[in-house]
Amino acid sequence: MNRRVLFLYPPHARNTEPPLGAALLAAFLRSCGGEARVLDLNAGAAPALALGAPDAPDARTHRAALHVAGALRALRTPEGYASPARYRTHVAHYAAALRARARGEPWDLTPGDFTDGRCPDFGAAAVEPFIDAPERVPFLARCAEIAGPVLREFEPDTVGISVIFRSQLLPAAALGGWVRRQRPGAVVMLGGGFLDALPAGTRAMLERRLGAVVLGDGEPALRAAFGLEPPEPDFFRDPDFGDFDLDAYLAPGRVLPIAASRGCYWRRCAFCDEGRRDFAQDRPRAFAARLARLAAAHAPACLHFTDNAVPPACLRLLADEGSPAAWFGFVRARPELRDPGFVRALAASGCRMLQLGLETPVPRLLAALGKGVDPGDYGPILRNCAEAGIRSYVYLMFGLPGQTVADCEAALRLIASEPMDFLNASIFRLPPGAAMGADPALWAIDRFEAERATSLYHAWSAPGMDTRAVRHWLARRLRREPRARAALARTPSYFKSSHAAFL
Ligand code: SF4
Repeated sequence: MNRRVLFLYPPHARNTEPPLGAALLAAFLRSCGGEARVLDLNAGAAPALALGAPDAPDARTHRAALHVAGALRALRTPEGYASPARYRTHVAHYAAALRARARGEPWDLTPGDFTDGRCPDFGAAAVEPFIDAPERVPFLARCAEIAGPVLREFEPDTVGISVIFRSQLLPAAALGGWVRRQRPGAVVMLGGGFLDALPAGTRAMLERRLGAVVLGDGEPALRAAFGLEPPEPDFFRDPDFGDFDLDAYLAPGRVLPIAASRGCYWRRCAFCDEGRRDFAQDRPRAFAARLARLAAAHAPACLHFTDNAVPPACLRLLADEGSPAAWFGFVRARPELRDPGFVRALAASGCRMLQLGLETPVPRLLAALGKGVDPGDYGPILRNCAEAGIRSYVYLMFGLPGQTVADCEAALRLIASEPMDFLNASIFRLPPGAAMGADPALWAIDRFEAERATSLYHAWSAPGMDTRAVRHWLARRLRREPRARAALARTPSYFKSSHAAFL
């Protein structure tokens, strides 16, 4: 029976903390008597390329060549984050070094993203060449250097490869191709949330060429594949970070990810694909005990709650009993956050930052979207956060079906009138699995393409502002409004919320 599994976390994603999914799957397998190893190939991949970047006569590249090693060192210390201006300089040197490294190559690399011009879309024909020629991705040599000896010594029966982010897909395909050559007898399993978004034809190609493509949670798939009988239910256990160098990440101290839930306890937003996943929640007391054990074992500087929205019972427990370390995460704009005492208690528990998906302040749109929040709460919540010293990271969406210029202006008034530390203003795209796509006419969508051969999103249109008009409005109105411009300027480039909690 195959029970010796090597989990690989491929480049390239923000390398600010270890990957929670791999740490949980390793813990799950070990709890069932299996053998697991985890290699975070992402942690040092882009920094290694930046350190090897060539010098050039232009001032920016030359400065980057001189300072990138120091910048990467600083981004691993609290001092690197003490001054926003110095922080931005460190990140700029890192980004410029990566840009220099990518010059003349078909691929592009930033501290938070990886793309390849030879892969203009996500169709099978564009992705498959990376399986046949893994050396197309610039990370391969280093990945092979790290993973090769482990493949030979550990002799895994199965190699699991995570694809959590879009920017990991091509490196994951390349790694899969490389593993199949290095260890032809091993089973390859691809897993991770991004695979859900891929066109069906691309997933079928990955299955044909590499091995199983696991959609949804990994534990049930491992249990079914290996006939495991776990001593505890599948989902909630202490993640095992024993295989990671926790000091290797670009963060001011150790940041440990953990979640109190899977899926989303609300699940009713029509634009979001979380509605198709079942929701499961850790018992609040068990969750609190996990936090205490993680803090005792690893002394984290900060905990990152990766829940789609931290469940209300856990939030209440944190407010009542505190946390063993500072923390940040997503919450829904619920009425209890209107209570200044509750928000102060969250701050006292160690809350550094709340991520708030407010989307729009327009009641008509919120009702149509099924968001289930009262925009009258937005102002009090943001003011409570500001007064309690909790940073707010606000997400607003533009280009929603039926959204008018007047609706966008209402969002601008919210930004101009309420305190927001960081701002993400995104253009809406309709993901597969969102309720909106199941019945587009309900949202007055008059053109909807259900089939996606090469795209991650459905093509659609509705009367009102099209994407071009939205982009124009964002550039001409939002980015010129002083408080919006200031919030956007404060929001960390590339690392976004992963670093915002520390600035
Ligand atoms: S948008 Fe957020 S709250 Fe709404 S269903 Fe998705 S994850 Fe849940």
